[in-house]
Amino acid sequence: MSFSTLKLHPTLIRSVDKLGFQRPSPIQSKAIPPALEGRDLLACAATGSGKTAAFLLPILHQLVEQPRGTTRGLVLAPTRELACQIRDDLNALAQFNGIKSAVVHGGVVMGPQKTAFRKGTDVIIATPGRLLDHFQHHYAALSGLEYLVLDEADRMLDMGFLPDIRRILQHVPKPKQVFFFSATMPAPIEKLTREILKKPVRITLQRKAVPAEGVSHAVYPVLAKQRGSLLVELLRRGHIDDALVFTRTKHRADRLARLLNRNDIFSERIHGNRSQPQRTKALAGFKSGKFRVLVATDIAARGIDVDALGHVVNFDVPGAPEDYIHRVGRTARAEAKGEAITLVMPESEGDLQGIERALGLTIPRIHLENFPYDVAPGTPPHPAHGNTDKSRQKAGNRKRKPAKAGNRKRKPAKAESKPRPRRFGKRRTNS
Ligand code: AMP
Repeated sequence: MSFSTLKLHPTLIRSVDKLGFQRPSPIQSKAIPPALEGRDLLACAATGSGKTAAFLLPILHQLVEQPRGTTRGLVLAPTRELACQIRDDLNALAQFNGIKSAVVHGGVVMGPQKTAFRKGTDVIIATPGRLLDHFQHHYAALSGLEYLVLDEADRMLDMGFLPDIRRILQHVPKPKQVFFFSATMPAPIEKLTREILKKPVRITLQRKAVPAEGVSHAVYPVLAKQRGSLLVELLRRGHIDDALVFTRTKHRADRLARLLNRNDIFSERIHGNRSQPQRTKALAGFKSGKFRVLVATDIAARGIDVDALGHVVNFDVPGAPEDYIHRVGRTARAEAKGEAITLVMPESEGDLQGIERALGLTIPRIHLENFPYDVAPGTPPHPAHGNTDKSRQKAGNRKRKPAKAGNRKRKPAKAESKPRPRRFGKRRTNS
């Protein structure tokens, strides 16, 4: 199926073409036709599936011919980062028709957001808390609302936003169409869908949550105290080019970013204690290639979308299989290739095996050659599956770049080792 068979407005066909989207992703081919017929959608789609364009394209198509000056679309998202990502996607998709959007989230001043409501910006993308703050004022009536999207509804539930969402629904007029997106459907979410959707078209892409197909997985067993130096070594040797690194706590994210910077690996961090301008700057610096590593906690990383991101590193084993999927979903997006690396301490092996069981995966354990491993009392010097770095490469794992000095300060010897700016729509290829 091609985008032209979807009968979208020519300005939208032009923009998907410019973004390099060759064909609709499965969620897009299933969601767009019924959405254009005016149906509500209930879509179970994981991050990385192309779900954002699946709900934005039908909304934009219906807004193109309408007069400007009324907010007709409202998108609710759990985090600031996801809201900003949706705004960026919308701007890219609407580049040839002038449809405007604004983000409304906490951590920044209210003034420009008020103006967005007052001007009747076509689509407002909001996190629940700040939106409710605006709803205290008459300017935020949203009386012309026609399209409502709930994105990553299960995350909104996890983050305790369900009561806020009900309050929002009471405040706004009944929308003409509702698009409900959630990676999973826990019972409270099912209940909410029954309350707000009218005979929705149900779209389920996968029964069981599994990471995207293009991701290869690797585990490096290591003692807790050596995790930092092992990561430095993997970056230094060029085994990891650039990476989004997840830690469980904000404190650890700070400490790890400091360690990497001390080792001349330019890094930034993004977590709940960082202000919005700091987060935006960190993400922009990572996207442009200024920082090689972005260290993040789970919540702060929601919505981070970096094209051509080769590596996701779990510095801490995530607590649940869903978190593993969400984390590794940041790489290998929309059919690209990527690698998920997990550093596992002996005490976290149990958690990791739980994840492997839930996902039906057996992840190879890798031993980095010539790394000065300290051996934990009672453990064999080589990890369980005994793969060495070399044997793994022979086994046909992802091709590595030649070792790098780990420092972007030095002049790159070859053009290909320059920091690569990452842009919306640019895809990593298999070659
Ligand atoms: P999402 O699941 O909406 O977060 O999208 C994941 C990534 O896929 C984003 O970087 C999009 O730009 C990209 N994308 C969305 N639709 C397509 C498509 N049809 N072809 C290629 N890439 C796409």
